[in-house]
Amino acid sequence: MKILLGTKNNHKVYEMTKIIQEFFPQLPDEITIISLNDLPNVDEPVEDGNTFLVNATIKAKYYYDKFKIPTIADDSGLEVAALNGLPGVYSARFATMGQTNSLDKDNREKLLTMLKDVEDRRARFVCAIVYFDGNELVSAEGQTTGKILREETGDKGFGYDCLFYSDDLEKPFGLADSSEKNRISHRGRALRKLLIKIN
Ligand code: IMP
Repeated sequence: MKILLGTKNNHKVYEMTKIIQEFFPQLPDEITIISLNDLPNVDEPVEDGNTFLVNATIKAKYYYDKFKIPTIADDSGLEVAALNGLPGVYSARFATMGQTNSLDKDNREKLLTMLKDVEDRRARFVCAIVYFDGNELVSAEGQTTGKILREETGDKGFGYDCLFYSDDLEKPFGLADSSEKNRISHRGRALRKLLIKIN
């Protein structure tokens, strides 16, 4: 059986593949995991939903319809309490708030600027994840809480990781290796819940 990960983000592909491999010890004999980076000329759908779940569903259905391979797609982002949940679904395009993604470093810079004089640094990562095989549509969500650091710390992970101090790990995601992060991350929690449902 083949599973398509509906993302071009190599960091997400790496994290999700490891989580799936740990969940199914019989891999790779029974299940082959591929991503959009293994397929030619993949265009992406417009993610115009107001929630992570709607956007993850748009992606899972779009890529299944295109390739007819059972697809797992996530939509995720950072919600900051003092910003009423922003950047939220705009996490990937926060710097521009436009249609297309902005650079991670510009997104982080904007976040630090907006939180410059803010004491309440509470935040959470949220992930909605959807499986679609043309028939069955299954979804799950996961969250992980923390605080926004005052400066970038560490170089592990991607996106906002180097600005996120994890309550669970008691250290920044930027200093955590992927297996530590996967254990408690929004994506790890969501994906394990999903795998339990579809297994
Ligand atoms: P998506 O690919 O449309 O789901 O966009 C998710 C955006 O949220 C990414 O571009 C990152 O900026 C941010 N994000 C989601 N998950 C993580 C994570 O695990 N670490 C750091 N940033 C993340």
